[in-house]
Amino acid sequence: MTTSFSLTPAAAEPILRVAQRNLRLLKTVPELADRYADVDKVLTLDDVAALPPLVKDDLNVALAHLRPKAAGSATWLFQSGGSTGSPKVGYAPTGFYMTGVYEQWRPLDPDDVFVNAWGAGRMWGAHFLAAAFADLSGCQVIPIGSVTADEYGDWLGLFRQREVTAIGGTPSVLRLWFGHARAAGIELPALRKVLWLGEAWHTALDEDIAAVAPNARRWGMFGSTETWVVGTNTPDCPMDVFHTLPAQLVHVGPDGLLDFTTLNPDMLNPVLRYQTGDAGQLVDCPCGRGPVMRVLGRRDSVVQVRGLGLHVDDIVARVEGAPGVARAQVVITENRGRASAVTVLLLTDRTAEPDLADRLRRELLAETFTLSTAFQHDPDAFRVTAVDSLLSNSRTGKTSNFVVREEA
Ligand SMILES: [Zn+2]
Repeated sequence: MTTSFSLTPAAAEPILRVAQRNLRLLKTVPELADRYADVDKVLTLDDVAALPPLVKDDLNVALAHLRPKAAGSATWLFQSGGSTGSPKVGYAPTGFYMTGVYEQWRPLDPDDVFVNAWGAGRMWGAHFLAAAFADLSGCQVIPIGSVTADEYGDWLGLFRQREVTAIGGTPSVLRLWFGHARAAGIELPALRKVLWLGEAWHTALDEDIAAVAPNARRWGMFGSTETWVVGTNTPDCPMDVFHTLPAQLVHVGPDGLLDFTTLNPDMLNPVLRYQTGDAGQLVDCPCGRGPVMRVLGRRDSVVQVRGLGLHVDDIVARVEGAPGVARAQVVITENRGRASAVTVLLLTDRTAEPDLADRLRRELLAETFTLSTAFQHDPDAFRVTAVDSLLSNSRTGKTSNFVVREEA
């Protein structure tokens, strides 16, 4: 059974030594040693499929023990996810493995004027990997990062004046840029390329892009802080499929869950059957460039909030562990596909202190990277409220840990 892999046995098996090395490293991690005790060899794709998967915090545990260091550059630490408790940290060398991406994906050329609108700082990697990619492309770069709501007009004026040809960001951030431009009647006729990474494409973006920059087309990357970039697509591919890199071995496991194994010898994270929680399938791309990974969305309790993964079950468990809370539920309010607010609803019992909701709100903001980052500019959009009843699905009667609502 080797048809559920992104690479053929002939392509993958000669370079499985990286997987073999990572198995050896993972066996040295005390917390994980038992799990790998019975496996010694990774010589075939069948061997890979038989390995236990790495899930949730396993890589964090492994990295805390292994403390990898890049051979010829700085070692960069980036943070992902945003569960309560310990954040997930991924390591990467300068360059962020972008040479492999550049070999298969060429959205930018030396004549481009590229706006890097992925947020810089707060231990998020996207801005820096996009910068490394632009470096390989030899284009002009305008490093914008995050801006506040009242700054869009001035910066858009600069983009127009500089005849910007390309912009990159998470789809949520791109929606802000194109939404502000459209609302202000600003057109960017020179803009031809929209690069994206960090969450699924929003179809609502297509309309705003058509109004603001009718010549622009989308170019996507898929990845995570643990795996780095796994695949890329072009304007000729559907928005939910990605041509995987030859150094990324993608496997479709039980329930359609995707797992990732790095075959890149420079990779610092020991990514060996790592599950991001995304489900998917391997299909042929209509662009004609071969098989691709179609991403079907999350199968675990991580939901995207403004481009960052919010671990809903962790939040609910954390809140329900507080004295006075009987049950909790996370409600995400969306406006045209973008999270405008996150509210934690509390069913309290008689032991609840009067200031329970306020205290939990402060604690959650302080300890949850996703919340503090996503609501950095509008912290009031994160609320904790005591209620008489939680929201239930009127059709099934189920009360799930989280509910997504359209803004009224
Ligand atoms: Zn394609």
